[in-house]
Amino acid sequence: MIVVMKANCKDEDIDHVMHFLANHGLSGHPSRGVQRTVIGVLGAVGPTGVPGSIGGINPGLGEALEGLAGVESVLRVSKPYKLASREFHPIDTTVEVSVPCVAGRKVSIGGQSVVMMAGPCTVESEKQLMTTAQAVREAGAVILRGGAFKPSTSPYGFRGLGEDGLKLLAKARDEFGMAVITEVMTPNDVPLVSEYADILQIGTRNMQNYFLLDEVGRTRMPVMLKRGMSATIEEWLLAAEYILSQGNPNVILCERGIRTFEKATRNTMDISAIPLIKQLSHLPIISDPSQGTGRRDLVAPMTLASIAAGADGLIIEVHPNPDEALKDGAQSLTITQFQDLMPQAHAVATAIGRDIIME
Ligand code: PEP
Ligand code: MN
Repeated sequence: MIVVMKANCKDEDIDHVMHFLANHGLSGHPSRGVQRTVIGVLGAVGPTGVPGSIGGINPGLGEALEGLAGVESVLRVSKPYKLASREFHPIDTTVEVSVPCVAGRKVSIGGQSVVMMAGPCTVESEKQLMTTAQAVREAGAVILRGGAFKPSTSPYGFRGLGEDGLKLLAKARDEFGMAVITEVMTPNDVPLVSEYADILQIGTRNMQNYFLLDEVGRTRMPVMLKRGMSATIEEWLLAAEYILSQGNPNVILCERGIRTFEKATRNTMDISAIPLIKQLSHLPIISDPSQGTGRRDLVAPMTLASIAAGADGLIIEVHPNPDEALKDGAQSLTITQFQDLMPQAHAVATAIGRDIIME
């Protein structure tokens, strides 16, 4: 349920509605827009401390709310996800990440600027990580990616350096002032990975690992939730709802391609998901053209298309010597290719009235 306040309502009216909701065991989530405030309402708090769904709200309450001072109307949320929906929260969410190398030492993901994340698929060695981090930073990336705990389709594939990989990422952050994004695969690893990462990545294979979603939801860390490789948009937003409903508002979505009949590319990059997510949700969205295509020659065009479609950022795999990469070499850009891509990405961002944080 959503309570739409009148454009000229007073602060006391909003406070009164919030008290009314609390007295009925409901939680109110106000979004204060330029024109008007809307208050999203969630049902009674259940035994786990998590707010319930709209199903728990007595329908008679809608009428009572409509009678309160300053209230214009009361609407039902039509989607199964509530906190993730644009109806519930009309204003864009921005997720703040501390990034020492930029002015103000902070980056807002989901704001005016497009944010570039780049780095190797997987942390392989100190030399590989430091060389890549330095090069992508000099080219303008502000967030360093790199997997320490790697999901591997085959049990014989490289599964990452674990905590040693996290330590190397932290070293690169200290040296180059970048923020670090890295994957967390199990609920048990959340405290450890949170010590080293600035953004927790939930991989495609774990999008519906609900215990993991609950656990990252209990932190207040920025979380980048990748789309499951066979997930519908609705399933993806319901997965985001898990994190939000635990009280963590810092959710970033990531389109990384979906599985279709097509085999010429590793996945089918669903560029249309980007503007569609912007309609359905207030959450920021990042594009991953590396996993999305599996082919280095397609990464640059898909990067430009993603920015044109409204992506709030890119996450791109770069390797100093892709032919020798332990993972995902075929889709990793060389350092020179990444350097060439940045000015083009900037030109597209400028053409649609945005910019890229480069510093
Ligand atoms: C990755 O980013 O390297 C990765 C494994 O991504 P995904 O979970 O999208 O496959
Ligand atoms: Mn990868």
